[in-house]
Amino acid sequence: MRVELAIKNGKRSFKIQTKHGSLLTPLFMPDATYGAITSVGSDDLRNSGVEALVTTTLHIEQKIGSDYLEKYGGLHDFMDFHNPILTDSGGYQVFSLIHRNKSKNNMITDAGCSFTAEANGKFNFLSPEISQQIQHKIGSDIRVVLDEPVIEDTSLANIKRSVDRTTKWAKRSKQEFLRLNDLSENDFNDPKIDRPLLAAVVQGANNFKYRQISAEQLIEIGFDIYSFGGLPLHSKHSWKNDAPQGFYHELIAFVANLLPVDKIRYGLGIGSPDDLDYAYKVGWDIFDCVLPTRNARHAFLYVHKGQGDRSYRTYDVLHIKNGQYQFDKNPVDKECSCSTCKNIDRAYLRYLLKTHNPTGYRYATIHNLTFYMQHIQNLRNA
Ligand SMILES: [Zn+2]
Repeated sequence: MRVELAIKNGKRSFKIQTKHGSLLTPLFMPDATYGAITSVGSDDLRNSGVEALVTTTLHIEQKIGSDYLEKYGGLHDFMDFHNPILTDSGGYQVFSLIHRNKSKNNMITDAGCSFTAEANGKFNFLSPEISQQIQHKIGSDIRVVLDEPVIEDTSLANIKRSVDRTTKWAKRSKQEFLRLNDLSENDFNDPKIDRPLLAAVVQGANNFKYRQISAEQLIEIGFDIYSFGGLPLHSKHSWKNDAPQGFYHELIAFVANLLPVDKIRYGLGIGSPDDLDYAYKVGWDIFDCVLPTRNARHAFLYVHKGQGDRSYRTYDVLHIKNGQYQFDKNPVDKECSCSTCKNIDRAYLRYLLKTHNPTGYRYATIHNLTFYMQHIQNLRNA
């Protein structure tokens, strides 16, 4: 059985069987952009309790190359990370690139996305089929179909086009997925056949009607996982600044209710520990986000209640560069059992991060990842 669903006290929990071990939901996956989490190795990830990773297909293709990875034997061996890996479709990165760098070479048509790579100016093309081919060569356990995100405050015509295109691309992606894995449509629905899982992405921006149309059309095609289509992008600001924000409570609950009870729901890019709690409560199962790792490098540490300098609903944040920690010999978090909290104090971590020492990034990242993994474990046990 690839995916088993248990319902206890009204809460859904999936056991997901992959070639690289099984996973339980709720599940949080940190983002290993470029096939690595900056400053930590796979042994650090294991020790922090990380159960699965998300990696970005387009970055992997540009930095490592899927042909190279296929020849090497796949990303798991390359990274020495033998737990499940989810690859995104590359669509969000391409859309962001095209959105902030409008030129005649950068465009999205029904055929796919044409763009010039920022790093080397080389012309690239990403279609639903090519995205699946790259993910296949990477050897990921969970794959995502190419979709077309839109900015949140776009016109109705653009939302409609994005939903239509997302459906058409989802169909083409599934066909290519079946071809690459040598499967028929019947095989896809046969739980006895081992294969990677395939996720579709519900688009429709902030429009409830189009979210519903998108969900219905994707369910009709049939996937293992349905995702909440990114955090909609603003036209007014840089997408980078907006990415961690724009979390719409009402919309995310609405979309969860559109999706089948027995299918996994993936909250792409969610979120802070409080966002995770909420999204899980309204029916989402798996999550990924850059927050714990990116914030670690910005000296922004997640700690248990009563131990930080800023309080949120279920946790505190400790801004370790603040002067108040200069002589603080306490661990970052007294309730944390990570190697950072066991071995060094706040004063030393503050010094390392203030001087941009990579060792500081490693210590901070290990702590934040451990905090997130413990947080999701608590949700699972609740
Ligand atoms: Zn810790």
